Amino acid sequence: MKFPFLPKKKWGQNFLLDKNLLQKVVNSCPIDEKTIIIEIGSGYGHLTEFLAKSNCYQVISYEKDTQLHFWLQSKWNKEQKNKVVFLHQDALKINWLELRQKYNQSLTFLIVGNLPYSIANSLIFNLLENTELFENLVFLIQKEVAQRWVATPQRYKKEYSSLSVYISLIAKAEIIFSVPKQCFFPQPSVNGALIRLEIKKEIELEKEKRVQFWAFLKNCFRHRRKTLWNNLLIASYQEKKIREVFQQLNYEKNIRPQQLTTQDYLNVFNFLQPQ
Ligand code: SAH
Repeated sequence: MKFPFLPKKKWGQNFLLDKNLLQKVVNSCPIDEKTIIIEIGSGYGHLTEFLAKSNCYQVISYEKDTQLHFWLQSKWNKEQKNKVVFLHQDALKINWLELRQKYNQSLTFLIVGNLPYSIANSLIFNLLENTELFENLVFLIQKEVAQRWVATPQRYKKEYSSLSVYISLIAKAEIIFSVPKQCFFPQPSVNGALIRLEIKKEIELEKEKRVQFWAFLKNCFRHRRKTLWNNLLIASYQEKKIREVFQQLNYEKNIRPQQLTTQDYLNVFNFLQPQ
């Protein structure tokens, strides 16, 4: 296919053209007639077209690139337009609460996108702050980033990080399939993976405490080669308190941050909270 504009690398413009793959992405999305699909990064609308063919209620597709947005608006035919709304906006600036409130509560929100690498982590943070507003997220992202998002002490151990713990607190995350870099145009330097996050109905930590929990996790993983004990010391927790936690939870002094599960982190966090 010949594109009307040169792809902008800085905006992660690596388009998906393979129709089988596009259909496979849509098949991996939990969609029914009550689903509003929010697409991040319309591009030339390749994925949008497949999403619109599903039995969803509506597709709202965001694109930051002015040229692409207006090109798509002019190409999209009327019949398809009923179901799709194209918005020219930076997805990192979406006010999710405002958007959600425009729609009836009986509808559900699914966020989908072949995401530019540069926005994947910021976007997931924005979304995780608003988890009460949606049910599912399905993203095509760099494989390594996907592995970091789903890692546990057993699975993708090397990628296990504060973000893996934080995500698993809030969502059930799984990699659905890998997407070789040859499937994108222009071809990026790394492979991709499709990841699905299903927001948990019951999250084990109240919303008000999550910012603190995130800061705590970052402290725990700050020096990956050091023990958890030393990381906590560096983060200025009192040694006496650390000793108490370790005794209470039966941890060896040399336990490393990569060995604790999400539940372990919640236990340590709750223990260290000022009473
Ligand atoms: N969905 C299309 C395009 C994927 S490429 C496909 O699969 O082929 C990623 C798209 O996201 C590009 O069109 C890029 O311009 C857009 N984009 C990049 N940063 C963005 C942002 N902050 N907000 C919205 N769109 C963005």
